[in-house]
Amino acid sequence: MVSSGSTSQLFSGEQLILCHDESVGLQAAIAIDDTRLGPAVGGVRLRCYPDETAALSEVHRLARTMTLKNAVAELPYGGAKSVIMQADRKPPTGPERVALMRRFGEFVARTAGTYIPGVDMGTSVEDLALIGACGARVSCSQLDPSPWTAVGVASGIRAAVAHVDNRTDLEGVRVLIQGVGHVGAALAHDLAFNGAHVIVTDIDDVRAAELASDVEGTSVPAERALEVDCDVFAPCAVARVVSRATLGRLSCRMIVGAANDILADRSLAASLASRGITYVPDFVSNAGGVIHIHAVASSWDSQTLSATLDRIGDRVTEILEEAELSGGTPLAVAERRAERILSAAAASTNGHRPSDPRGPKERLAA
Ligand code: NAD
Repeated sequence: MVSSGSTSQLFSGEQLILCHDESVGLQAAIAIDDTRLGPAVGGVRLRCYPDETAALSEVHRLARTMTLKNAVAELPYGGAKSVIMQADRKPPTGPERVALMRRFGEFVARTAGTYIPGVDMGTSVEDLALIGACGARVSCSQLDPSPWTAVGVASGIRAAVAHVDNRTDLEGVRVLIQGVGHVGAALAHDLAFNGAHVIVTDIDDVRAAELASDVEGTSVPAERALEVDCDVFAPCAVARVVSRATLGRLSCRMIVGAANDILADRSLAASLASRGITYVPDFVSNAGGVIHIHAVASSWDSQTLSATLDRIGDRVTEILEEAELSGGTPLAVAERRAERILSAAAASTNGHRPSDPRGPKERLAA
């Protein structure tokens, strides 16, 4: 029996919704982690999981990360995530996919704007349009947010280099970018333009070699990348790249990236610090995309957007300075910062949760 006021062992967020409809092959979960700052935004991930427990664990963890990301970026959103569990390795296509997304959209609509989904791994702007067509509010602009994510990561790298090496330029700084997809490629161009020596790696060797040539950098094979001597390691591919197994192979002095969930577990933050590696929490450096989504929704001009993206670098500086002064890890400092913002929001609304102010008719019309 669960006693009142106790914390669930299964889910520590606000709401976990399981969605099921055999007729369209839908099995999904929506995790709403925290709405103290506003409606909870977070992508819809479509992928094949080994089992339901793995899917629930991922949606839970990613929803929490969205809470931290939005809070630290001072955006008026809470954190959430959803996963649609793909039945097999082949993603659904055609009418099957349309039916799946529309049905999922009906479940999202039931949250009445408390959960605002966006694009994530395995889903597209077209999928979000289908989800939104069923009355769900969706956070999708027609633009890919990756270039803005890259701008934010570059700002975080400049701040980390300034803090660690006491310099304001990137001339000759060696940055290893793992994954040269949407974010990694844009980041490589930005850093090379600013004088950094860019080293790229990708499981797609051809893509890595082409980009290296474009930015006058170097490419290295994916399986040997972690050992490459560099100043900054920028993970822009897969999650949990820093683990107990890879820790000893790292040959960098700073880690600042776009990938969510760079650390396999929280205790690695202290292990990195004791190895003299400065780790900038991923949810601080990769907020550029969500900032851009908010900028579109709020009709910001380009100067406001650019100044807000630059704030990512300022926050990195503040977090690294506080970590140095307090002796804590940057991860612990960033988490505390998020919690302060969340608690202040809860205090100012007296515990009331801000939600979608639009009525059902307006939501349907949007
Ligand atoms: P993407 O799919 O466009 O690119 C990922 C690249 O990584 C691909 O080129 C792929 O071949 C490569 N890759 C995959 N596994 C690899 C491995 N083991 N070693 C080396 N390369 C590998 O993805 P993206 O949109 O550029 O996003 C990159 C990361 O940043 C993801 O983890 C994503 O969740 C995160 N992120 C992205 C955004 C955004 O705006 N796109 C925002 C926040 C976080």
